[in-house]
Amino acid sequence: MLSFDIRTLESTAAQVAGDLQADDPIWNAADPRPLEAVHVEGRFSSAGNGRFYFSGRFSGSVTLECRKCLTEVTRDVAEDAHFLFAPTDDPTTEDDPDVFTYDPGAHQLDIKPAVREGWLLSVPAFVDCREDCKGLCLTCGADLNNGTCNCEPVAADARWDSLRQTRNEFQA
Ligand SMILES: [Zn+2]
Ligand SMILES: [Zn+2]
Repeated sequence: MLSFDIRTLESTAAQVAGDLQADDPIWNAADPRPLEAVHVEGRFSSAGNGRFYFSGRFSGSVTLECRKCLTEVTRDVAEDAHFLFAPTDDPTTEDDPDVFTYDPGAHQLDIKPAVREGWLLSVPAFVDCREDCKGLCLTCGADLNNGTCNCEPVAADARWDSLRQTRNEFQA
């Protein structure tokens, strides 16, 4: 459970242990979704003046494509997380992107939006399937990790080198 009763929170800190499911409606279509639920653990407590502070950790895993060969790679994502929530009518939080706001009339405070944002910031922008991934052949698309293809190397073709040299001599 990642939603908390505000009245109760004001007097008693909550121990958080819950999951943000991979099919939760909070995810946008373009989000790199977790493979399974994102597990969230920590402590959620009042910080005074209608503010609440979550301190803990979230963890999960994500599948991304290797940027060189497009093979699917699964990576663990785990981060310490600190989220501050304040009511929308709190003037001190105006334009502060690090503060999550909530409707002052609300009875429940949901930390899922904060977990989602933390997740999006923690998922790597790109991955390599391995350090020495050889990638795909630019000509035929073959995965060069599985062996060489029959294409002529494009950049380092010796025949063109001699032609280039001849041309350079001609121009000189
Ligand atoms: Zn790769
Ligand atoms: Zn090729």
